[in-house]
Amino acid sequence: MKKKFYLAHLYPDYLNFPRDSDNPNFLKRRAIETGLEFEIDHLTIGDLFDPEKYDFVFIGGGADSAQRKVSDDLIKIKGVSLRQAIEDGVVMLCICGGYQLMGQRYVDLEGYEMKGLGVLDLETIAEPERIAGDLQFEADLPLADRILSGIEEHAGRTYLGKNVKPLGRVIQGSGNNGLDKTEGVQYKNLIGTYAHGGFLPNNPQIADYLIKLAKQRQGFAMP
Ligand code: GLN
Repeated sequence: MKKKFYLAHLYPDYLNFPRDSDNPNFLKRRAIETGLEFEIDHLTIGDLFDPEKYDFVFIGGGADSAQRKVSDDLIKIKGVSLRQAIEDGVVMLCICGGYQLMGQRYVDLEGYEMKGLGVLDLETIAEPERIAGDLQFEADLPLADRILSGIEEHAGRTYLGKNVKPLGRVIQGSGNNGLDKTEGVQYKNLIGTYAHGGFLPNNPQIADYLIKLAKQRQGFAMP
């Protein structure tokens, strides 16, 4: 039985919104505590993504300018293999700017339209008034404690299509767009959210949930 798990952290040198990189490190710590071995690879522009290797993928948030820099590589260099991995159930966490880039497109504040990976049925349009502050939502996931929290900081408004489900329902803050009370997305084993501030350290039940999904995918017997 496989004991070592691999996580690909995408574009840590570009999408490096403060504290987002705490997420892969926290996941690693938690996985090691449950007896697994865990290794994190940093993949940046030009690096190929090996869909056979990775159990987890993480992509964080960043400025519009950083999103522009990585979007071409995301589609042209990593696109086919990353899409394949997501469709095959790789466990993936996407925060804010990284979440936006999984959708069909992101139109930034200057009106520049970036194509996303296109694996998620959603799109994001930026508006001049930034959304910033505490975010609390109730996750639509099988967790004992479903109330999750974080800090949101985005200009983009994300609108979900019919083929994806929201991650949860907003209790405090704006979430995806400030209008429909949805927050984040879930699709197969991918979770996207606007919650910064160390999402997994603040909500360790999600880290454990992601580890459980990855173990299930590798055929571990669950209690
Ligand atoms: N640039 C994106 C926006 O403003 C994402 C910001 C972020 O990741 N914090 O919506």
